Amino acid sequence: MINHGKQPAAWAAPTSLGFDYLIVGAGFAGSVLAERLAGELGQRVLLVDKRPHVGGNAYDRHDDAGLLIHPYGPHIFHTNSAEIFDYLSRFTDWRPYQHRVLASVDGQLVPLPINLDTVNLLYGMRLDAFQMKDWLEAVAERRPEIRNSEDVIVSKVGRELYNKFFRGYTRKQWDLDPSELDASVTARVPTRTNRDDRYFTDTFQAMPLHGYSRMFEKMLAHPNIKVMLNTDYREIVDVVPWRHMVYTGPIDAFFDCKHGRLPYRSIRFEHRTLEQEQFQRVGTVNYPNDFAYTRITEFKHLTGQRNTRTSVVYEYPCAEGDPYYPVPRPANAQLYRCYEQEAEALSNVTFVGRLATYRYYNMDQVVGQALATFKRLRARQEAAAAVSQDLATAPK
Ligand code: FAD
Ligand code: UDP
Repeated sequence: MINHGKQPAAWAAPTSLGFDYLIVGAGFAGSVLAERLAGELGQRVLLVDKRPHVGGNAYDRHDDAGLLIHPYGPHIFHTNSAEIFDYLSRFTDWRPYQHRVLASVDGQLVPLPINLDTVNLLYGMRLDAFQMKDWLEAVAERRPEIRNSEDVIVSKVGRELYNKFFRGYTRKQWDLDPSELDASVTARVPTRTNRDDRYFTDTFQAMPLHGYSRMFEKMLAHPNIKVMLNTDYREIVDVVPWRHMVYTGPIDAFFDCKHGRLPYRSIRFEHRTLEQEQFQRVGTVNYPNDFAYTRITEFKHLTGQRNTRTSVVYEYPCAEGDPYYPVPRPANAQLYRCYEQEAEALSNVTFVGRLATYRYYNMDQVVGQALATFKRLRARQEAAAAVSQDLATAPK
């Protein structure tokens, strides 16, 4: 583990050389904090990432065909928070986009989340919304308590639809049965009795007009922010002076996995550029029961780009590789708490983001968490400044 004790105490007198903040990770968590600390408080920030680019998992780039692709899997922005949307709007214009997903089930492509059309198509029925409510009540299994990801689904749509849409997909995605995962995992996907076929229903649903990377570049274009890429923070942490660290990488790695490794799920992304204008009808098609991949996403739907070719990505979940998903289940929450306690004992390091707080957060939730963290850091800094002011003016 890094010897953090060697660093000056938090909020010690500013070093004339060096940085006020060392921020580890240039994803949403690290970049939002860098922007706020430099932009609002005039702090000197060193933002370090071991990857060769900013943006973290939301990074995008153009492929050989000129199509904007997401190398770390499809990222669709959606939020109910005007504060978060307004904040990001300082750095990008938007392209309105409502994501739609079809699932390949029983030889048909049907809407997901399960809605009125899904059930009518699968069973050759002509139910209306009221009849579908009754139908669901008849097939749903009663559960006195919703304890896990199986309970969530069977209690709403019954075992047959659970098996068709959720059991196989979840086993592929997590290598766990839904009964072994927290309820919050499958609860991300609602069930509807109307014909709404949007994947999300948030108030704000849009893609950054020129992509996420351009948005991050604008966010970080401040003279007080120095970005250092291709650098693991361990290479520089004892060399470059800093007062406070913001860490957004995996929390167990920070502590050298001293309590054991926290499970993170990884994905192998297979990108293909195809010599055809369109590959599928909607942004994403899920394959709950067939193939080793979980879903295929065609980027043109997300970006609105026109091109004679098209680019798609297949997602193959796997155990080894970059940590992408925390795995929400009770044993992991317990292990995370050991690390959280260690983290709380460090006054000069703040942990933020999906990997550092081991939370299955979407981008907007990470932005919200980073903005809230900024407010806490600002209050702490103002309190420390008030104390030094009092000391300076106190009679000797
Ligand atoms: P990250 O983006 O992971 O950034 C952490 C950074 O820290 C990384 O760049 C990493 O290189 C760096 N780092 C780690 N360790 C070190 C070290 N030792 N030294 C230096 N740097 C280090 N969210 C949505 O809202 N909508 C979506 O559609 C969506 N789709 C997703 C699809 C996939 C396949 C995945 C994996 C995630 C998706 N998300 C989506 C979630 C989204 O990616 C995250 O919420 C968000 O990117 C997390 O930001 P972060 O800054 O916490 O972490
Ligand atoms: N899920 C499923 N079948 C699907 C889609 C989702 O079983 O067709 C379950 C699965 O466990 C998945 C979870 O619901 O991990 C959350 O889905 P979401 O689409 O939100 O996953 P993400 O986009 O975060 O990978």
